Amino acid sequence: MTDASPSRLTGSDHATALRARPLPRFLADRYRGWRATTYADNKGWHRRLAEEGQRPRIMAIACCDSRVNVNQVFSAETGDIFLHRNIASLVPPYAPDGDPHGTSAAVEYAVRMLRVAHLLVVGHSDCGGVQGCHDMCSGASASLG
Ligand SMILES: [Zn+2]
Repeated sequence: MTDASPSRLTGSDHATALRARPLPRFLADRYRGWRATTYADNKGWHRRLAEEGQRPRIMAIACCDSRVNVNQVFSAETGDIFLHRNIASLVPPYAPDGDPHGTSAAVEYAVRMLRVAHLLVVGHSDCGGVQGCHDMCSGASASLG
């Protein structure tokens, strides 16, 4: 496979891409560090979340951009924020038509099941997703369709 663009992947390319591989070493090391420190220091809280479930008061919809760290910005702890991420923090219109609607499903679950009190849509500066939408709508770039 030399071109990873989704439109050029064959069935066997997808199977190869999805085959389980070990975590990259740096991630495995970070995980072990987290497990030995943050997790170990808060084991009771993590156990409670696992046994009693989550009860976040806030749902946030944020961009996938790696520079956006919602939990850090709001000094949130594990279990504080029900977080959904997509490109440009988009919230499409509700459409109960049977098609996949990840953002709508996440909002519905947060409101109906978790009964969150607050919904936040978190934008950020220099969002490539928003810029791409703007460029497509203004005719500055070709649409992907
Ligand atoms: Zn963004």
